[in-house]
Amino acid sequence: MELRGNRRQVLRWGVSFAFAAMLPADFSRPVLRPPGARQDFLARCIRCGKCMEACPFDSIRFFDLSAGGLAHTPYIDPLRTPCYLCQKRGSDGRDRPVAPFLRCGNACPTGALVTIANEKKVLARVGWEYKIGVSVLDRRLCLAWQYDSCGECYYNCPLRDQALRDRPPDMPAVQGSGIRPYVDREACIGCGMCNFVCPVRKHIARAKIRRDVKLTLFEERYAGMVRNVIGRAGPGVRLPAIRVTREW
Ligand code: SF4
Ligand code: SF4
Ligand code: SF4
Repeated sequence: MELRGNRRQVLRWGVSFAFAAMLPADFSRPVLRPPGARQDFLARCIRCGKCMEACPFDSIRFFDLSAGGLAHTPYIDPLRTPCYLCQKRGSDGRDRPVAPFLRCGNACPTGALVTIANEKKVLARVGWEYKIGVSVLDRRLCLAWQYDSCGECYYNCPLRDQALRDRPPDMPAVQGSGIRPYVDREACIGCGMCNFVCPVRKHIARAKIRRDVKLTLFEERYAGMVRNVIGRAGPGVRLPAIRVTREW
């Protein structure tokens, strides 16, 4: 019975894999893979879905057939659900690992995702090949840099004080001044938590004009400042103020 179920699953994946392979791959957008993806990820990934099943935070999504050759491969969309680096934050503000290794890589049967120890000092030093991406911060849009406010990214970064620091290394600490987020590119793994929490989003800026957009209390707190920074920065800015990229 189980054998028949497995065969059916293999057949299903085989058909969709063959169909997907016939379609042109869409390489126009940079794909953020789960942590640990090798350079030859696409050749190794058998589209089995084990990484997605293993993720305790539902951070991993799968492309559908409209993605052509990328169909049924995993990706992270940090604006919807970031990668939590298999850490759970307690009420005391401390992160605790939910497993000794990042669960997605540990579950991958082909090594398309490598296994990475779930230790912050290891995570902050993974090679460039295995990062999800790296975050870039636009100071023109950042409420901490512009208004001495916010700091959500800094407080929520699972690699706080390694990947995200409270000020650039060459900026002296001034008593009473707020944080000035600074991304250490070497240490950032691209989990996207900062992207997820950053309030500089389009819908917040639009909420005053569009009555159908309802803001949460958290969003209301920043709405005026968000409108100002986006307005001042002019057209063509990319939101949020901090975002993961693989352009390096
Ligand atoms: S590292 Fe953990 S939280 Fe992040 S995608 Fe993998 S399983 Fe999910
Ligand atoms: S800076 Fe952002 S993307 Fe980088 S590790 Fe911290 S939260 Fe994740
Ligand atoms: S969350 Fe966004 S606006 Fe707030 S400090 Fe970080 S980058 Fe700046």
